[in-house]
Amino acid sequence: MSHTGSGIVLLGGGVVGLTTALLLRQRGVEVTVVERSLIGREASWAGAGMLPPGRAMAAESAEVRLRSFSCLCWSELNDLLQRLTGADNGYRICGSCVLADAADAAEEAEREAARWASEGVLAEVLDGGSLRQRFPMFSAAYSAAVWLPEFAQVRNPWHLQILRSACESAGVSIVENAGDASLECGSGRITAVRTADRVLYPTAVCLTSGAWTGGLLEQFGVQSRIRPIRGQMVLMRVGAGWLPGVVECGRRYLVPRQDGLLLAGSTEEDVGFCRENTVAGVRGLLEFACELVPELAVAPIVKTWAGLRPGTPDGLPLLGRVAGCENLYVGAGHFRSGLQMSPGTARILCDLMLDGRSPISLEGLQVERFSAGVWKGASCER
Ligand SMILES: Cc1cc2nc3c(=O)[nH]c(=O)nc-3n(C[C@H](O)[C@H](O)[C@H](O)COP(=O)(O)OP(=O)(O)OC[C@H]3O[C@@H](n4cnc5c(N)ncnc54)[C@H](O)[C@@H]3O)c2cc1C
Repeated sequence: MSHTGSGIVLLGGGVVGLTTALLLRQRGVEVTVVERSLIGREASWAGAGMLPPGRAMAAESAEVRLRSFSCLCWSELNDLLQRLTGADNGYRICGSCVLADAADAAEEAEREAARWASEGVLAEVLDGGSLRQRFPMFSAAYSAAVWLPEFAQVRNPWHLQILRSACESAGVSIVENAGDASLECGSGRITAVRTADRVLYPTAVCLTSGAWTGGLLEQFGVQSRIRPIRGQMVLMRVGAGWLPGVVECGRRYLVPRQDGLLLAGSTEEDVGFCRENTVAGVRGLLEFACELVPELAVAPIVKTWAGLRPGTPDGLPLLGRVAGCENLYVGAGHFRSGLQMSPGTARILCDLMLDGRSPISLEGLQVERFSAGVWKGASCER
């Protein structure tokens, strides 16, 4: 049994834990990432890597604020990773075509564009003619869309590997296969983190444990209501440059990679901690893809997989310090947006832990907002 001294311990080595660890280390802090199994193999690996734009950091909506702040932080993070590793994480501004599929498609596209424009994001309405000119492979069923030229993507499996290398080269300690760590408390603070083969004595602990965070928070009386929401994916091969940007239609999407791979996603299923693909899930994604682009029927399937999004009732993360425990923090529950929101979340956690204040308002992201008597939102889980 090894005993290790001070420093900040992050429990969970997904994109949120790794990014936070790197930023903390950049500020000279001793940091350890304790990962139950393998680094970067859960939701952060499974995701599509879509990074919607944002420009309204003072917005009333917590979602818009965090997305906008993160959007700004992506370029700083990319510069840092490039400096530390010289490797390409596949970050590209690729644009996204948001298809309107309602009966009043033209009006829906106008409303969608106005919503983005109100945030200061570039948004161009495409009518049937300009849609077909830009996307000649689409079926004729779609007659209006919005083009978001600032929409970006990252190759998340590459990004995670690069984050890990950057963390290691910066001096972050990484403990993998740690199993379920337990937290020991005394006098209103965490005194130790115990795994099967070591005890850490942290100055602070941050829970970056994705869909698994709920159980860890329960012992501190916090009802996080974080639960796993399965998302299935299908990867196809179509040829490089075939699709000129991301395509979104409701909760479904196609994401083209530069080397000719194409992702079709995704389902939203409340089935516990089950990561299996199902016939219905994969069939639904293939039907969506082929209805949108009939010629995809002949594309080879490369792979299918599923991941567990950390879902919350409002789809937003719990971010901040846990009341009643002076050195315990949380950054979890990012649902469909954890890749996009990871650099902003990491910067906020870093500033909170080191300076005691956040760079943006955390109104609407509070850790205790779902605890008994606090949550005033709709009762349905999204
Ligand atoms: C199919 C799919 C598509 C998605 N597409 C996008 C997208 O396009 N854009 C976007 O922004 N987001 C997307 N997401 C969401 C995004 O992937 C998640 O919100 C994000 O990855 C959450 O990151 P995380 O680090 O909190 O969680 P995870 O990546 O799940 O990492 C949590 C880690 O904590 C570890 N852990 C758990 N419990 C413990 C413990 N007790 N001790 C130690 N370690 C522990 C786990 O093993 C895991 O490695 C998608 C998700 C899925 C599933």
